[in-house]
Amino acid sequence: MPHAVVSLLQDALGAAVSTADVDLEASREDRSGWRSATPPIAVVHATSVAEVQQTMRIAHATGTPVVPRGAGTGLAGGAIASTGAIVLDLSRMNRVLEVSEADELAVVEPGVLNGDLNDALAARGLWFAPDPASRAISSIGGNIATNAGGLLCAKYGVTREAVLGLAVVLADGRLLRTGRRTVKGVTGYDLTALFTGSEGTLGVIVEATVRLRPITAGEIVTVAAVFPDVETAAAASAAVTAARLRPAVLELIDAVALARVARFLGPAELAGTPLETVTRAETFLLAQSDGAGAADEAAEIARLFAASGGRVTLSTDAATGDRLLGIRRAMHPALAASGQVLIEDVAVPRSRLPEMFRAIEEIGRRHGIEIPTIAHAGDGNLHPNFVYTGDEVPAHVWAAADEMFRTAVALGGTLTGEHGVGVLKRRWLADELGDDSFELQRGIKALFDPTGILNPGVMFEPPLPPAR
Ligand SMILES: Cc1cc2nc3c(=O)[nH]c(=O)nc-3n(C[C@H](O)[C@H](O)[C@H](O)COP(=O)(O)OP(=O)(O)OC[C@H]3O[C@@H](n4cnc5c(N)ncnc54)[C@H](O)[C@@H]3O)c2cc1C
Repeated sequence: MPHAVVSLLQDALGAAVSTADVDLEASREDRSGWRSATPPIAVVHATSVAEVQQTMRIAHATGTPVVPRGAGTGLAGGAIASTGAIVLDLSRMNRVLEVSEADELAVVEPGVLNGDLNDALAARGLWFAPDPASRAISSIGGNIATNAGGLLCAKYGVTREAVLGLAVVLADGRLLRTGRRTVKGVTGYDLTALFTGSEGTLGVIVEATVRLRPITAGEIVTVAAVFPDVETAAAASAAVTAARLRPAVLELIDAVALARVARFLGPAELAGTPLETVTRAETFLLAQSDGAGAADEAAEIARLFAASGGRVTLSTDAATGDRLLGIRRAMHPALAASGQVLIEDVAVPRSRLPEMFRAIEEIGRRHGIEIPTIAHAGDGNLHPNFVYTGDEVPAHVWAAADEMFRTAVALGGTLTGEHGVGVLKRRWLADELGDDSFELQRGIKALFDPTGILNPGVMFEPPLPPAR
């Protein structure tokens, strides 16, 4: 049967279909550390909407699973393919189809990299605000499918707020258009928002109309502060939000994470920054204000940080700001240099950040592990990281993660702030949603994908085999 499906694909799509080991192997993993047990049957490198439709028609007719895949940088195991599946690789659909300066929007194919779109927009004084730390390597289609966030989203919004409309190929190959090009529009249910964050389980995004913003004019002012412990730093960041201040960036690096990034970068990279003299127990908080009123806002943030017990430096020099942000962005490579990393992604209401940090420390102590944690503190999104050796996430790490998820939900938070459920967190989905919401969501999946061929196993457990 798999051979017959591959033949059908090859007859319809010719050279777009690959069964080369290098392609099959690459699609067995993303950046979550998960790897499928077996390779898929083929990878379709689609270059047009018609090719995506052809692929879906064949998959629909033969009941073959399809895994949509952008740049493969996901952290939830959402684009990983295994036995019997076709990988639908969208990375070659990478054209910016239109930029409308008058309407402040762009129409793009899904494989355009976030960073490439912004490079193309810069000369026109416009930008696409969603800014995952992976913006140089992740695709707009993937950003939409995961509803990606980033460093700037407390002020400028997550991906959902930047998507006006979509073209989506449905499970049976039909092409659906959702949304609009207008700023407002409330006709019917908001299917654009439904597809945003649907992780390839409802349809394949083949085109997106995205909202652009004018590049923020004015200076950028950076406030860096070092705190004696993580709870004090978390309380200081919560105080910023409570004071109705909206810095573009508000990032926290706890002491364990800071020690690892300092070791990775070395003393020369930290020389001249407030991190040069950090002691082992201290936590780092970084805020950046932009636009009109940046200087006043930053001065007020500096005052709040100092009042909370922080050692504060304020800088109007763009190069210093970039350098400090660079230290934050070095977290991923710093952790990856020390082993396999499970990057977690819980979020809590901002006022509960100190409690969440306290809980993470306690969970780490109880399980005898370090949990280096960084946070987009401005939106309450924490990335506790687990570094381990070997191919599989060890059981005690999952036990610690399980406690952490339950704590976040108990504090009024969520399992995942921006990375998605994928295969990694599906076992906790019903716990957060509750029975009614979970069943409704399964019903929505069944409506869009009645035969269950779109990314099976992502978000929802795969269906049990029929009883004998
Ligand atoms: C170093 C690093 C830093 C990161 N930082 C952030 C961060 O700050 N914020 C954040 O949110 N994420 C972050 N991520 C995670 C990841 O980059 C994002 O989830 C990103 O949006 C995934 O895009 P992608 O193109 O790589 O998608 P993929 O990994 O290829 O796919 C992700 C999911 O989207 C689906 N999908 C992809 N394309 C389509 C499509 N066209 N139609 C339908 N479904 C599709 C897949 O099936 C899968 O479920 C980071 C990852 C790394 C490695």
